[in-house]
Amino acid sequence: MKNPADFSRVPLGVLPTPLYKLERLSRETGRNLYMKRDDMTGVALGGNKVRKLEFLLADAQEKQADVILTAGGPQSNHAMLTAACAARLNMKAILVLKKRGVLEGGNLILDGLYGAEVRFVDTDSYEDVYAEMERIMQNLRAEGHTPYFIPVGGSVPLGCLGYVNCVREIAAQAEALGVKFGHIVSSVGSGGTYAGLTLGAKLYLPGVRSVGIGVCDAPFEKIALELMQETSALLESDVSVGPEDIDIHFHIGPGYAQPSPEGSAAVQRLARTEGILADPVYTGKGLAGFFQLLEDGYFPEGEDILFIHTGGAGALFAVN
Ligand SMILES: *Cc1c(COP(=O)(O)O)cnc(C)c1O
Repeated sequence: MKNPADFSRVPLGVLPTPLYKLERLSRETGRNLYMKRDDMTGVALGGNKVRKLEFLLADAQEKQADVILTAGGPQSNHAMLTAACAARLNMKAILVLKKRGVLEGGNLILDGLYGAEVRFVDTDSYEDVYAEMERIMQNLRAEGHTPYFIPVGGSVPLGCLGYVNCVREIAAQAEALGVKFGHIVSSVGSGGTYAGLTLGAKLYLPGVRSVGIGVCDAPFEKIALELMQETSALLESDVSVGPEDIDIHFHIGPGYAQPSPEGSAAVQRLARTEGILADPVYTGKGLAGFFQLLEDGYFPEGEDILFIHTGGAGALFAVN
């Protein structure tokens, strides 16, 4: 089997990110809660996409790409981080975004700051967005450019390697702290982070269960399983992955990228107990789902539990 370190990776992040116990929140809940601070990956406002982009943009460089195209909602953290990382590698970024939701402020300010070209498509469907991207890429090729395409969230096997690798980091940090995690919990938006963490746990933290909190309405059980299988194949690993490895719950609220009362309460709670910023779109809802599971007694008493903070603070500044 290969190891994520055998793949080309551009070092964009400041890694490892911190991992520590949330002392106040642990006392308040009577549990042993830890956080992996991937909101501190060291580019822009931090976030999980940096780990994926390290592998994806290495591939783009190997393919001599000069323009990176990616897609998302108007406030996409992934698109903003792609713009930041592309700027750093002297590549042009074109962000093709759905014209839905908050169309100014927040991450759109940062997209401009990083010099990305933003194009809106007035649609509800990524099929339309991808069709527009295909047209843009054809034009770019005709002009002699080499475009590189990254789908929504960077959730392809190469991107998932970032989170397989993250579990190796977690394993080393857990050992240094002398903790043994029973569960790791993360938000699920396009599935790549969860797939990488879940496969990574099977490989490097056997026995640890990976729990996902879905923040939009998509068949993540299927999406995550396929991504895990493809990423496992990329690693030439013979570990078997199946539906029994997947454990996904949902906290969508009124809709994707629309704040929920529980999500907003969780953002406030994390800020006021630990001083840490979560966001209303992903990590706030992820925490809301996590707090609900804690309340329901989903995790055994006394267990060490790790929440993966995936970033997203830019959304705090994108309000209608
Ligand atoms: C993209 C994103 C997620 C979800 O990660 P996926 O790999 O797309 O499932 C979670 N949190 C934040 C802040 C994100 O930007």
